[in-house]
Amino acid sequence: MANSFRSFLRPGSILLTAVALAGGVIHSAGPAVAHEVRKAVLPLGDGHIAFRPVAGSIFACDAQFAPGGAFRDGPWISGGQWFPDGKVQVEGDVGWPGAQIRIAREGDFRMIIANGLPVNQKTGAYPVAQGSAAYAYDRNPNAIAPQVIRLQLPARPVEAAQPSCVGMGMIGVTLTGVGIFNGLDAGGRDAAAHEIQDHCNGHPERRGQYHYHSWSPCIPDESGAAGQHSDLAGYMLDGFGIYGPMGEGGKRLENSDLDACHGHTHSINWDGQEVVMYHYHFTDEYPYSIGCFKGKPVAVPHMGEGAQGQRPPPPRMPPHMPPPPPPGR
Ligand SMILES: [Zn+2]
Ligand SMILES: [Zn+2]
Repeated sequence: MANSFRSFLRPGSILLTAVALAGGVIHSAGPAVAHEVRKAVLPLGDGHIAFRPVAGSIFACDAQFAPGGAFRDGPWISGGQWFPDGKVQVEGDVGWPGAQIRIAREGDFRMIIANGLPVNQKTGAYPVAQGSAAYAYDRNPNAIAPQVIRLQLPARPVEAAQPSCVGMGMIGVTLTGVGIFNGLDAGGRDAAAHEIQDHCNGHPERRGQYHYHSWSPCIPDESGAAGQHSDLAGYMLDGFGIYGPMGEGGKRLENSDLDACHGHTHSINWDGQEVVMYHYHFTDEYPYSIGCFKGKPVAVPHMGEGAQGQRPPPPRMPPHMPPPPPPGR
């Protein structure tokens, strides 16, 4: 089946990424309208964890969280809100020429084989460098390392009788081979607001898996940029697709446009056919990606962090090292 593997990366994606990284909001031809513009202020997601499907919350498999992640709030967090453009980033421009992803339809299944490194995307330099701006808030000591991602997902997923919880660790993968994690950091807080990430909104966890907790400007989305429904960004572990932040007609989606699992149903192009089908969206606001699984997620035993609702194994060390005591200050 090797010759049926397809690459989803298009030649134009690098240019679009560069435009997005320059901070511009990409508009279609014609006058800009308000719904295309990313919000400068977002509600902080802290505390929005539920143990059933609730819109605007994460239906979490885990009831307890260990301390970890960023050890200090930056000035971009204030009064129950946060300001994405004011957030410090992990600097760097590290390429990953060995990054691989293969996605193939095999009968009723979609096989995804990847090494977890970002295809056609550069990352910040990890571990976070001592003395850098990011180091003042988040001393992520982990280096980005290749992973073994082998997923056998239903190619035509169906909605389960009941939604199910989302665990910590990988809950989906982008078409560029990057793990999608839920919107929580190890401490159960709003990861996108608290944790310091690179220019693509990515960082590594303790086994070195590079991942996103939120929408990344480095995920190709030519259709969204052109004022249409966003392109497919990746697959969640229940087999449903997750798309960028633009809905039908190029409307920038909010939680109120989506159900508790962070999806909706309308006509989409799925494996080359127009079908009316459920799918998820990333949004700018918490929970950023899914709030629950609409279908039945597959087990990912080698990833180890309980995406099926199992308790994760106790970590050998905190995901992020706590800061050393300040020397005499
Ligand atoms: Zn993370
Ligand atoms: Zn949609």
